Amino acid sequence: MQRFENKVVLITGAGSGIGRATAIRMATEGARLMLVDRSEEGLQHTRDQLPAGAEVLLRMLDVSDEAAVELCVAETISHYGQLDVLCNNAGIAGGDYGTVQDQNLETWQQIISVNLYGVMLFTKYASRQMEKQGKGAIVNTASVAGIRSGAGGNAYSASKAAVINFTMTSACDLGSHNIRVNAVCPGLIETGMTKPVFDYARANDKEQKLGARCELRRYGRPEELAGAIAFLASDDASYVTGQALAVDGGNTASLNLPGMKV
Ligand code: NAP
Repeated sequence: MQRFENKVVLITGAGSGIGRATAIRMATEGARLMLVDRSEEGLQHTRDQLPAGAEVLLRMLDVSDEAAVELCVAETISHYGQLDVLCNNAGIAGGDYGTVQDQNLETWQQIISVNLYGVMLFTKYASRQMEKQGKGAIVNTASVAGIRSGAGGNAYSASKAAVINFTMTSACDLGSHNIRVNAVCPGLIETGMTKPVFDYARANDKEQKLGARCELRRYGRPEELAGAIAFLASDDASYVTGQALAVDGGNTASLNLPGMKV
């Protein structure tokens, strides 16, 4: 399948995990890429894994820096002459895992800046070009944490719930320009972000517990997200917009009562 031949795809958070897998998937399907991350080393590592001959530009920036985002979109257009797909994937977790009474405003501001403002800023500038082209697709990486509690700290969960709602509001804003906006909501996926969880589980002989409460009884791989993102970004999803697709092994489909599964 070459669904992204003659398409230019910009992916944030492409220096690791889901963003890297998405870059490889898109390039394999013919895309020309603008890859963004705050880690230069991560971006270079991603570039090294792309199929031979893939056209790619790398930009190291912070997605919450409006001037840098505007410049990056302008550079994409000046180099490639077009921008067809935006994958707003960069994100940070962490923060305070205590109750609401333990929350710290500075931490909230940091998480909301990256996870929400970063998505809004790239959507703002990329969609202007897509409007000129008369077509575009945007896929935001939210999280199951934005659907239910218990999958991240309070700030992280709130930021991802906001991304899901922003996906709907921007889909409504941009639909008349033939720009589709959707989100994926990953469950537990082994990436840089979740490395501490996996390291801890493996060190304590608890790996079999990871993902065990999902209906598929396992955690997910970045490539499984890349497949869902590529679908939503492609013309195969030409009549899908404003949706948040859980890619979580069935985790959010279940009440997940402890001790009730075999
Ligand atoms: P990852 O391996 O940590 O990849 C995220 C990448 O984004 C990293 O290279 C990170 O750089 C970069 N990044 C972070 N803040 C940035 C910023 N301000 N500007 C530019 N780049 C920035 O994690 P991942 O799991 O692939 O995460 C991708 C997305 O999936 C995130 O939005 C995350 O919230 C979401 N997600 C992941 C899971 C999961 O289980 N892994 C579940 C649900 C949702 P640094 O390494 O320097 O931070």
